[in-house]
Amino acid sequence: MRHSPRAHGRARSVGAARDGLPTMSAARTGRTLQVLFWVLLAPFFPVYGLAVLLLALVRLPFRARAFASGVVGRSLRCPNGHVNATSGRFVCGTCGATYLGWIGACDVCRAPAGWFPCDVCGVGIRLPWVRG
Ligand SMILES: [Zn+2]
Ligand SMILES: [Zn+2]
Repeated sequence: MRHSPRAHGRARSVGAARDGLPTMSAARTGRTLQVLFWVLLAPFFPVYGLAVLLLALVRLPFRARAFASGVVGRSLRCPNGHVNATSGRFVCGTCGATYLGWIGACDVCRAPAGWFPCDVCGVGIRLPWVRG
Protein backbone atom coordinates (compact mmCIF):
# COMPACT_ATOMS: atom_id res chain seq x y z
CA MET A 1 0.00 0.00 0.00
CA ARG A 2 2.88 2.33 0.72
CA HIS A 3 4.71 1.61 -2.52
CA SER A 4 1.88 1.98 -4.99
CA PRO A 5 1.18 5.76 -4.51
CA ARG A 6 4.89 6.49 -4.77
CA ALA A 7 5.21 4.47 -7.97
CA HIS A 8 2.13 6.19 -9.34
CA GLY A 9 3.48 9.59 -8.38
CA ARG A 10 6.83 8.88 -10.00
CA ALA A 11 5.15 7.73 -13.19
CA ARG A 12 3.11 10.92 -13.26
CA SER A 13 6.09 13.12 -12.56
CA VAL A 14 8.06 11.50 -15.40
CA GLY A 15 5.11 12.08 -17.70
CA ALA A 16 4.95 15.71 -16.62
CA ALA A 17 8.65 16.11 -17.22
CA ARG A 18 8.32 14.55 -20.63
CA ASP A 19 5.49 16.95 -21.44
CA GLY A 20 7.37 19.92 -20.12
CA LEU A 21 10.60 19.15 -21.92
CA PRO A 22 9.58 19.98 -25.53
CA THR A 23 7.98 23.26 -24.41
CA MET A 24 11.13 24.26 -22.56
CA SER A 25 13.42 23.35 -25.45
CA ALA A 26 11.17 25.21 -27.89
CA ALA A 27 11.37 28.29 -25.72
CA ARG A 28 15.12 27.89 -25.52
CA THR A 29 15.37 27.51 -29.30
CA GLY A 30 13.30 30.65 -29.75
CA ARG A 31 15.56 32.54 -27.38
CA THR A 32 18.66 31.15 -29.12
CA LEU A 33 17.30 32.32 -32.47
CA GLN A 34 16.63 35.74 -30.99
CA VAL A 35 20.16 35.88 -29.60
CA LEU A 36 21.51 34.66 -32.94
CA PHE A 37 19.50 37.34 -34.73
CA TRP A 38 21.03 40.08 -32.59
CA VAL A 39 24.51 38.53 -32.79
CA LEU A 40 24.23 38.48 -36.59
CA LEU A 41 22.81 41.99 -36.66
CA ALA A 42 25.19 43.45 -34.09
CA PRO A 43 28.16 43.93 -36.47
CA PHE A 44 26.03 46.20 -38.64
CA PHE A 45 25.51 48.73 -35.88
CA PRO A 46 29.23 49.51 -35.47
CA VAL A 47 29.60 49.45 -39.28
CA TYR A 48 26.85 52.04 -39.58
CA GLY A 49 28.41 54.10 -36.79
CA LEU A 50 31.83 53.75 -38.39
CA ALA A 51 30.49 54.84 -41.77
CA VAL A 52 28.96 57.96 -40.25
CA LEU A 53 32.19 58.65 -38.36
CA LEU A 54 34.34 58.11 -41.46
CA LEU A 55 32.14 60.41 -43.51
CA ALA A 56 32.50 63.08 -40.84
CA LEU A 57 36.28 62.52 -40.74
CA VAL A 58 36.54 62.72 -44.54
CA ARG A 59 34.66 66.01 -44.60
CA LEU A 60 36.49 67.44 -41.60
CA PRO A 61 40.07 67.88 -42.96
CA PHE A 62 38.89 70.07 -45.86
CA ARG A 63 37.03 72.43 -43.53
CA ALA A 64 39.66 72.15 -40.81
CA ARG A 65 42.45 73.08 -43.20
CA ALA A 66 40.37 75.96 -44.51
CA PHE A 67 39.77 77.18 -40.97
CA ALA A 68 43.42 76.62 -39.96
CA SER A 69 44.67 78.63 -42.90
CA GLY A 70 42.28 81.43 -42.01
CA VAL A 71 40.51 81.37 -45.33
CA VAL A 72 36.96 81.09 -44.06
CA GLY A 73 35.40 84.53 -43.69
CA ARG A 74 38.75 86.31 -43.97
CA SER A 75 41.08 87.38 -46.70
CA LEU A 76 44.10 86.14 -48.67
CA ARG A 77 47.10 88.07 -49.92
CA CYS A 78 48.37 87.71 -53.47
CA PRO A 79 52.15 87.34 -54.09
CA ASN A 80 52.26 91.15 -54.48
CA GLY A 81 50.66 91.70 -51.09
CA HIS A 82 47.19 92.80 -52.20
CA VAL A 83 44.47 91.77 -49.81
CA ASN A 84 41.65 89.82 -51.44
CA ALA A 85 38.44 88.89 -49.69
CA THR A 86 37.69 85.17 -49.63
CA SER A 87 33.97 85.75 -49.89
CA GLY A 88 32.27 87.57 -52.71
CA ARG A 89 31.61 86.95 -56.39
CA PHE A 90 33.69 84.26 -58.09
CA VAL A 91 33.63 82.31 -61.34
CA CYS A 92 33.85 78.53 -60.93
CA GLY A 93 36.67 76.95 -62.91
CA THR A 94 34.85 73.62 -63.11
CA CYS A 95 31.31 74.48 -64.23
CA GLY A 96 31.90 78.09 -65.27
CA ALA A 97 29.09 79.46 -63.12
CA THR A 98 29.42 82.77 -61.33
CA TYR A 99 28.69 82.23 -57.66
CA LEU A 100 28.37 84.44 -54.63
CA GLY A 101 29.87 83.33 -51.35
CA TRP A 102 32.98 81.63 -50.05
CA ILE A 103 35.88 81.19 -52.48
CA GLY A 104 36.66 77.62 -51.33
CA ALA A 105 33.81 75.80 -53.04
CA CYS A 106 31.51 76.53 -55.96
CA ASP A 107 27.98 77.28 -54.83
CA VAL A 108 26.58 75.59 -57.94
CA CYS A 109 28.57 72.37 -58.46
CA ARG A 110 30.35 72.23 -55.06
CA ALA A 111 33.74 71.84 -56.76
CA PRO A 112 36.58 73.08 -54.56
CA ALA A 113 38.46 76.03 -56.01
CA GLY A 114 42.19 75.73 -56.64
CA TRP A 115 43.14 79.35 -57.15
CA PHE A 116 41.69 82.76 -57.95
CA PRO A 117 43.16 85.89 -59.59
CA CYS A 118 44.03 88.90 -57.50
CA ASP A 119 41.46 91.71 -57.73
CA VAL A 120 44.19 94.33 -58.13
CA CYS A 121 47.01 92.82 -60.21
CA GLY A 122 45.41 89.66 -61.58
CA VAL A 123 48.17 87.37 -60.29
CA GLY A 124 46.85 83.91 -59.38
CA ILE A 125 46.46 83.27 -55.67
CA ARG A 126 46.69 79.59 -54.82
CA LEU A 127 44.32 78.52 -52.06
CA PRO A 128 46.30 77.30 -49.01
CA TRP A 129 44.83 73.78 -48.94
CA VAL A 130 45.69 73.06 -52.59
CA ARG A 131 48.83 70.95 -52.89
CA GLY A 132 51.45 71.14 -55.62
ZN1 LIG B 1 31.01 75.05 -60.19
ZN1 LIG C 1 47.69 91.41 -56.35
